[in-house]
Amino acid sequence: MAKILIKNGRAWDGKRFLSADVLTDGNRIIKVESDITEKAEFVYDASGKIVSAGLVDTHVHMRGISNKTFGIQAEMSCFPFGVTAACDAGGGHGDRSLLDSFMLKNVVLVTVGFRDNKACFDSIEEKIEKFGEKAIGIKVYFDTQLSDIQNIAPLCEIVEFAEKNDLIVMVHSSNSPVAMKELLGTLRKGDILTHAYHGGDNNISEDGFECIKAAKEREVIIDAGFAGHVHTDFKVLKGAFDIGAFPDTISTDITRFSAYTRGGRYGMTMCMSIARSLGMREEEIFKSITSTPARALGKDGEWGYLKVGRNADIAVFDYTDEGFDLTDKAGNRIYSDKSYRCVLTVSDGQVVYRD
Ligand SMILES: [Zn+2]
Repeated sequence: MAKILIKNGRAWDGKRFLSADVLTDGNRIIKVESDITEKAEFVYDASGKIVSAGLVDTHVHMRGISNKTFGIQAEMSCFPFGVTAACDAGGGHGDRSLLDSFMLKNVVLVTVGFRDNKACFDSIEEKIEKFGEKAIGIKVYFDTQLSDIQNIAPLCEIVEFAEKNDLIVMVHSSNSPVAMKELLGTLRKGDILTHAYHGGDNNISEDGFECIKAAKEREVIIDAGFAGHVHTDFKVLKGAFDIGAFPDTISTDITRFSAYTRGGRYGMTMCMSIARSLGMREEEIFKSITSTPARALGKDGEWGYLKVGRNADIAVFDYTDEGFDLTDKAGNRIYSDKSYRCVLTVSDGQVVYRD
């Protein structure tokens, strides 16, 4: 007998919404079509709900892999929000066997630091080697408050290194030493700018957000990286959204701090709710947390799609009256009486969360 049948929902297959039931067998999706009549061990009625491919979070910090002060237990910070695959954007600790022990599917960006305005490649090869092919790129804190940098030169060194070693680069820059346009100009197709709407130094460029739009055209990935509203300025976010400079990917940057100490039930669903309340279309929201991040992380063939033959990674959401009321660090308040809620998460054909 088939294992899980999710009926009557509005399905998001990674590219579009369609009305379809979803059937799994073992750990695979075996049917995505309307009116499936087969019997299954577990039948879920998703009337009025969205049945999505499992979500992909481009920027998280997993306990044991990222820095000890902010790493958080991988599954508990992701499954309750529909996230079934994620990228650790601070890899340095732990090893491949720890990564492989997580039920949450994963890849890693290893950190490279700076000293005297120069990239510091100490132990980078070691880090990449220990994570094997799960190390897909480099994470840099190109930020004057966090690193010893003064201009664009050390970032160019990193990009050059990444180019030689077939890696992507993710840049955190909540206080940039250079204008947004110059920063984005150094990034290649496939590189990622996280916290793109941070509100710190050199965020809003002279051209408004035209440089963001231009970078998106070159397929540089613009990531919202909400970070529990610490690295997101709601006024900047709204200004960008108003002119259509939407992110390619929405990520949580979830840590011990953003998860617990900033209030609310922080996770991917809150980020989705914020994006929707500021005018991002539902199709764009779901694309930015399924197929686009899957492609950005080199996992297009495995993650982000609800289709026959794929792993049964599925998340079901409704849009409730729970609402949210948040204030960012600049004092901008944002609220809504509606928000997304994850009601069911399936990973490899197994129910791993149910609300
Ligand atoms: Zn982070």
